Amino acid sequence: MDCRVLSIQSHVVHGYVGNKSATFPLQVLGFEVDTINSVQFSNHTGYMSFKGQVLNEAELGDLFEGLISNNIHQYTHLLTGYIGSKSFLLKIKDVVKQLKEVNPSLIYVCDPVMGDHGKMYVPQELLPIYREEIIPLADIVTPNQFEAEILTGQEISTEAEARNAMTCLHNKGVSTVVISSSDLGDEKVLIGLGSTIKNGSSAAIRMEIPRLPADFTGTGDLFASLLLAHMYFNQSNIKVACEKVISTMQCVLCRTLNYAQEKVGPDIKPGPADLELRLIQSKKDIEDPTITVKATLL
Ligand code: ATP
Ligand code: PLP
Ligand code: MG
Ligand code: MG
Repeated sequence: MDCRVLSIQSHVVHGYVGNKSATFPLQVLGFEVDTINSVQFSNHTGYMSFKGQVLNEAELGDLFEGLISNNIHQYTHLLTGYIGSKSFLLKIKDVVKQLKEVNPSLIYVCDPVMGDHGKMYVPQELLPIYREEIIPLADIVTPNQFEAEILTGQEISTEAEARNAMTCLHNKGVSTVVISSSDLGDEKVLIGLGSTIKNGSSAAIRMEIPRLPADFTGTGDLFASLLLAHMYFNQSNIKVACEKVISTMQCVLCRTLNYAQEKVGPDIKPGPADLELRLIQSKKDIEDPTITVKATLL
């Protein structure tokens, strides 16, 4: 069977977040990608303004029914990112269950996007649904530090606490947990942590991610898509997969920042439009990343 991903995420007309950030890398890496656009906005929400439409759960149900009625709902992977409402998230739960009925070895990669740096940017009522209903269905989860804290109810201020939180998520049935970024480093590095358990064997890794001086958008979505691909190609070897993911991320982000800074000139801070990811220009680094960031086994 081809590698076939159903990706349910945002669409933006201009720029790269959600499906616009995830689709190209997955395609370049050889995946067939089917996309359901949970929203269709002119641009991401970090700009001065945005316009567009939000898909509701009935509309998601319609699209999914269309796939079922043609028997074209055979997927090897499901990927979900930002989801803005409780009813839409509950509908996703039905989708996961039905896809797993068709393919019991379907891998569900869930980026439980809820907030960052101590603040929630989705309704509070999504948290218990992620915690109790969605996470137990996921195979790979990619919370940031804040999301790992609220999902487990445990504060994370040390790496030991982060590892406890990852264990807590494993105990909910998730085989791979990667905390994509945390503030446990310093002004120079972000700390990424990952842990996997499968068939009785386990591995945990730590990465020091050189911190670039900009606020990017769409990086969490790019990260999740690359992790999906590299975990698959490397037989769930979390060390190799994360090294490839982070090395690609660094190339894309360095290229993005250099381009933005050149565009606006020295001593001027690039804005959201200047910092749209240079994804297309990074095709080679996505296909065959040179490993520049190594992970250490814990
Ligand atoms: P999630 O989508 O899971 O909630 P997030 O959106 O908070 O996570 P990011 O903070 O964007 O995730 O981090 C994802 C990845 O993006 C990191 O692992 C890192 O590789 C990269 N990244 C993001 N910002 C930077 C930065 N300023 N410098 C270097 N790398 C970065
Ligand atoms: N989807 C939309 C519509 C957004 O506006 C954003 C961020 O602004 C995202 C998704 C997620 O971006 P990130 O990958 O940086 O978490
Ligand atoms: Mg973040
Ligand atoms: Mg995110």
